[in-house]
Amino acid sequence: MARIFCIGRNYSEHAKELGNEVPGSPVIFMKPWTCLVRPGWDVRMPKHGSDLHFETELVLEIGRAGRPESEADAAAYVGGLTVGFDLTLRDVQDRLKAQGKPWELAKAFDDSAPCGVVRRFAPGTVDLDAVKFTGRVNGVLRQEGDSGQMIFPISRLLVELGRVWRLMPGDQVFTGTPAGVGPVSAGDEIEAESGLPGVFRWRIVDA
Ligand code: MG
Repeated sequence: MARIFCIGRNYSEHAKELGNEVPGSPVIFMKPWTCLVRPGWDVRMPKHGSDLHFETELVLEIGRAGRPESEADAAAYVGGLTVGFDLTLRDVQDRLKAQGKPWELAKAFDDSAPCGVVRRFAPGTVDLDAVKFTGRVNGVLRQEGDSGQMIFPISRLLVELGRVWRLMPGDQVFTGTPAGVGPVSAGDEIEAESGLPGVFRWRIVDA
């Protein structure tokens, strides 16, 4: 199955709202594919934490195998995009960060990656530095993202990932969240939207 790469702290206003320093290189972590929740399915509340946060993110799908050798070369590896959520148990993450421990318990639990349907396109036909997206909770606008405001642009992210992993078709990359994250709970509806892929919604339910 394809891999899910995630980028942390890729928008400076979001790094600040969580009290994090703006990093000098991308923060990279992964989620297993079993975290994915397709549109129309419910998101089940995790039980091992209490402060579930939405993080609306632009998601890339890799379209070809290999390692981008330069940022100029990187766009050729993107075969599609969509939007989704990097759901995070913030209380668990804060505890893990304080202890210097890995983040899986806070970010890689079941249902932690609601992800829209990927809109595929010919490489090079979409300006990856000008993709706008929004996140809503119960219909209220909470986050506005623009890939042009990323600390590390998509081309740089792919070069950095390619240094460690040979990219494979179907791999997905959650590219980080803008400012405005916050808590959600059972009964809430989260919604992610971007012009090309469209709008996707999920209901959060008690497991
Ligand atoms: Mg995130």
